[in-house]
Amino acid sequence: MSAHQESSVVVPGTKRSLADVLEPLDRLAAKSASLIAKHDAKFERNGQPYVLPRYFFVGPKGGGDPIRVGIFAAIHGDEPAGAYALADFLSVLDANPELATGYCLFTYPVCNPTGFEDNTRHARSGHDLNREFWNNSKEPEVRLLQTELFSHAFDGVISLHSDPHSDGVYGFANGNTLTKNLVEPALRAAEEILPRNQKGVIDGFTARNGIIRASYQGMLSAPPKLRPRPFEILLETPNAANSFLQQKAFVAALLSILAEYRKFIAYAPNL
Ligand SMILES: [Zn+2]
Repeated sequence: MSAHQESSVVVPGTKRSLADVLEPLDRLAAKSASLIAKHDAKFERNGQPYVLPRYFFVGPKGGGDPIRVGIFAAIHGDEPAGAYALADFLSVLDANPELATGYCLFTYPVCNPTGFEDNTRHARSGHDLNREFWNNSKEPEVRLLQTELFSHAFDGVISLHSDPHSDGVYGFANGNTLTKNLVEPALRAAEEILPRNQKGVIDGFTARNGIIRASYQGMLSAPPKLRPRPFEILLETPNAANSFLQQKAFVAALLSILAEYRKFIAYAPNL
């Protein structure tokens, strides 16, 4: 490491602090009328206590039932931009709650706390948590997240990732049929900040305009039997890009999804 390297840059194998992300959010929640911090989803790793941090944002009342959206970041511990982006996103909403009108947002900025601390993709168990869902996983983080996905029966599920092999932003569009209509504007919003990956094959999948209509077995998703299916979007920023720009791109994409989905609901209440 050169003497000029910024102190915020974490190299593999070194520790990152959960408090970097969570303390500002906790301070915000303490004075916010809309943001609630919930730190009671506990688990243990090698005898050490951990919490799956949860932050719920209740937007101003909209026309119908609140739209429940789950937003999940840093399930791969070496992809921190999503975690910081979620913190930025929540502070933008706290300052401009009308952007979340009609929504109840359930956000999970650090889904893999031990991997986040260690700056590793995998949890400290050595497992890739994003290949463990709905398959009787013994990973405590996965079990806690499955409980969230099951009990809240989200209308939408959004995952934030960063790809070290991509030089642009892209997304996976799964879930219900309108999902692809949400991903395109989300990528367009992100593209204002970082380029879109326009390759025909991304991460081994066929892609079109930066959109992949496929998924990995066991990735974080709504419960397999949940009907109606929610929209399910996974956004990827280029991990090598400036982290501030990755965060901005995520925030722009998330705001786009809130605005676009609200429009769909208004047009088709029984979708
Ligand atoms: Zn990832």
